[in-house]
Amino acid sequence: MTPFVEIEDVALRYPPQGAAEGHLAVSGLSLTVRKGEFVAVVGPSGCGKSTLMKLTTGLSFPTEGSVRVAGQPVRGPVSIAGMAFQNPVMLPWRLTRDNVLLPLEVVQPHRSRLRARRKEYQERAEALLASVGLKGAGAKYPWQLSGGMQQRASLCRALIHEPELVMLDEPFGALDAFTREELWQVMRDLHAARGFTAILVTHDLREAVFLADRVFVMSAGPGRIIVEREVAIPRPRDLETLYEPAFVDLVHELRGHIAEARA
Ligand code: ADP
Repeated sequence: MTPFVEIEDVALRYPPQGAAEGHLAVSGLSLTVRKGEFVAVVGPSGCGKSTLMKLTTGLSFPTEGSVRVAGQPVRGPVSIAGMAFQNPVMLPWRLTRDNVLLPLEVVQPHRSRLRARRKEYQERAEALLASVGLKGAGAKYPWQLSGGMQQRASLCRALIHEPELVMLDEPFGALDAFTREELWQVMRDLHAARGFTAILVTHDLREAVFLADRVFVMSAGPGRIIVEREVAIPRPRDLETLYEPAFVDLVHELRGHIAEARA
């Protein structure tokens, strides 16, 4: 087992703002993610899930403990990471394919290459869009796409620089139930095809069990991991899996842990 993300006994206290005291968001937080593994993190609101994402990508730093990605201590924004959030936040004045290319404008070596070989990169964006069922959508503006299509495009944006680590912060939370299930399958296929390491933060236990190799449950804040559960359901999983007893039992068990965490 090669550990890819190693979070060891981390505490993070947000600094005081104005009259408000500093807030201890996570404490005693430890988890390890293997290379190529898909993990999901679930827990009550405010338990520190987004904080965990920020710690892993180098947007926040621990007050105590250590965070390592790909064997290196995290000291600044992690360039091998791609991210997708609940709200896709596309730039409305840019075509969808140019939105997908955004990360390449900040990450070297792509940044310099992009200027010289824009057409080639645009084709790459179009190919990626086609692979998630958005053939031809690159030439449209994001506001011409439905919410589900925008979220597909935002997954492409998270993947365009072929990140080794993909961070998914409630990316399907704002979608209706059917679109969400479609996107689970898109995500499943992208992970199977590309083999990146993924950390998904979600409120949706079915989503966690459908996509993940392991599910971590966090305690109420200050958050730490209270349960770690292997998902022994074979892949490939499909939507029928959602109704199988092993799946339903595991979702039920996790629901019990969350109820305890909230108590
Ligand atoms: P979750 O994503 O699980 O809802 P967060 O990681 O966003 O939780 O937040 C964990 C706790 O830290 C919450 O109580 C939140 O109010 C607090 N918090 C988050 N960001 C900040 C910040 N920048 N300054 C102060 N407190 C914060």
